[in-house]
Amino acid sequence: MESFSDFKLVKQLNYAINDLGFDKPTPIQKEAFSVVLSGKDIVGVAQTGTGKTLAYMLPILQDLKFSKQVAPRIAIMVPTRELVLQVVENIESFAKYISLRVLGVYGGTNINTQMQSVAQGTDIIVGTPGRFYDLSLSGALKLKAIKKLVIDEVDVMMDLGFLPQLTNIFELLPEKRQNIMFSATMTEEVDALIDDFFIVPTKIAIAVSGTPLENIAQQCYPVPNFYTKVNLLTHLIKNKTDFRKVLIFVSSKKIADRLFDALEGRFGSELGVIHSNKSQNYRIRSVEQFDSGVNRILLSTDVMARGLDLEKITHVINFDTPTYPENYMHRIGRTGRAEEEGNTILFYTEKETENKRSDRGFDENENPYK
Ligand code: AMP
Repeated sequence: MESFSDFKLVKQLNYAINDLGFDKPTPIQKEAFSVVLSGKDIVGVAQTGTGKTLAYMLPILQDLKFSKQVAPRIAIMVPTRELVLQVVENIESFAKYISLRVLGVYGGTNINTQMQSVAQGTDIIVGTPGRFYDLSLSGALKLKAIKKLVIDEVDVMMDLGFLPQLTNIFELLPEKRQNIMFSATMTEEVDALIDDFFIVPTKIAIAVSGTPLENIAQQCYPVPNFYTKVNLLTHLIKNKTDFRKVLIFVSSKKIADRLFDALEGRFGSELGVIHSNKSQNYRIRSVEQFDSGVNRILLSTDVMARGLDLEKITHVINFDTPTYPENYMHRIGRTGRAEEEGNTILFYTEKETENKRSDRGFDENENPYK
């Protein structure tokens, strides 16, 4: 499918797309359209910037009939207030020629005002999980008419600790509904959520675009356990001539802290760490010190490293083997940017060998993830 006309969109949507100046659908839009339209549950692995908002909104808007009912039919859950505002704005531009009501709700503002807005009726409600749940508990927000639930950036939601609210919301929603989920990285927590609440979802994944794999030398080392990983890592990164700017990925904040403690004695003055339990100021400072070269080594979890545009990273080290190949691709794409040579190293224990299988759709010659 190469053009929007293949979607056979209603003319109001075509006009809006024209106004926005979009020539052709992005890969995620092509992949998601028919699945979302079919009503099946869907899980998409895609980052911000891939056009995922339009990917789920186009088929939803194509299908949404005019209504005057008060209770919303579409619920969209996003992790932050900024994203609520952004998604509402996007929907308004996509639905410019459609008679449609969309409302954004988020915490940190007066709930009574939002209760009044909800009472006026909406077709689509976009919200953060906490406020969304509070509004439904108060009785102001009725969930009985929800036909489709979109959860965007679910990995960030988990990282912000929204799992209990999400689970509560799932319990309140009508059982017969379509679930649509997007995440930039897949984690075990996300997988568990899908297992519990989704019905045989179709999974689609968009490779990290523009990852210059040709520029990245990939190596992997079998290592028995955490301590041997620390020893090998220490051995490698003490070579300051080659390992000039090293980004180390770990799968959880717990391991990030453990590894930080293990490395601090030897590398303390050149070491930084970022994960979601660190304050925002601390994280900003750590990233700045790494980027400017004050710190040579930065430890990060998958979720935190998203969106970091760091230059001239000589080595990306995968301290553990990601469960999902998308995460590996995302991690290694941090080195070898803009025509530069990059290096990536993967550590794997026997237990992690399973995640390193060859049936992941990678070219065997290109990377060690097999
Ligand atoms: P998103 O990943 O949804 O945050 O979208 C990233 C940006 O891409 C937004 O500014 C969209 O307006 C824009 N965009 C979405 N779809 C297309 C498309 N088919 N062609 C060009 N730009 C697009």
